[in-house]
Amino acid sequence: MPVQKTQAIVIRAFSLREAHKIITFYTPNFGKVKAMAYGVKSPKSKLSGSLELLNHGMLLFNYRENRDLQNLTGFELIEGFDGIRTDFARITYGCYLAELIDAIASEGNANPEVFDLLRDTYQFLTDADDLALLARFFEIKFLDLTGYAPQLSQCANCGSVVTATSVNNTQSVLVVLFSVRHGGLLCGDCQHRDTSAFSIAPGSCELLKTLRKSELGKLSRIRASTRNHRELKLVLSSFIQYHTERNLKSLKFIESVLEV
Ligand SMILES: [Zn+2]
Repeated sequence: MPVQKTQAIVIRAFSLREAHKIITFYTPNFGKVKAMAYGVKSPKSKLSGSLELLNHGMLLFNYRENRDLQNLTGFELIEGFDGIRTDFARITYGCYLAELIDAIASEGNANPEVFDLLRDTYQFLTDADDLALLARFFEIKFLDLTGYAPQLSQCANCGSVVTATSVNNTQSVLVVLFSVRHGGLLCGDCQHRDTSAFSIAPGSCELLKTLRKSELGKLSRIRASTRNHRELKLVLSSFIQYHTERNLKSLKFIESVLEV
């Protein structure tokens, strides 16, 4: 049983009876790794306290392919993201990102760019101003890296160029139509194909494209209106729900507590 050493972030911790926990890590080279941490809740355990949710560290485990639970042998803390942990809104968003990774990523499926995205986003989450925009940035980048990104440049059904259409023949109110089922924008000729498609402002669509191309270091320069925030969240959360086939508990919590 070869011992593996890899960077890892704790994305889920599940307490069992006695002093054990099942910990789910996200790693660059093994994707999700689920491991049993025996006796970790005991104060005598050398792992006690280091396996908190969101902790970034160096994981040691005995790797066996096709095994549900790996055997954890060590975890050396690199960064505990204290700036996230001490702020209610930041820890809530931090838990949401971890839950999102847990919902979409799969075990044994390496995606080092997703790991970098999660680690870097947590670093920015410690002092970002617009937490909702940071979450939207993470979502669109994550969807891109996992192959689920929405089609925002052309019609998701026929591939033609999408132009904004007027609402009630008023040129001043222009919208584009977004279909979750078709995976992106729909042109005027194809809009009848999905009656549940919803309309968003062309500016919100442009902002989504900007976020997709942007970097974390440039995020503080991007401004989003209340309408942009509402529509970006609608597009991305509908899309994520469609692909994960579940309601993420922490997203519901954010909606009810932080984004009212
Ligand atoms: Zn079309």
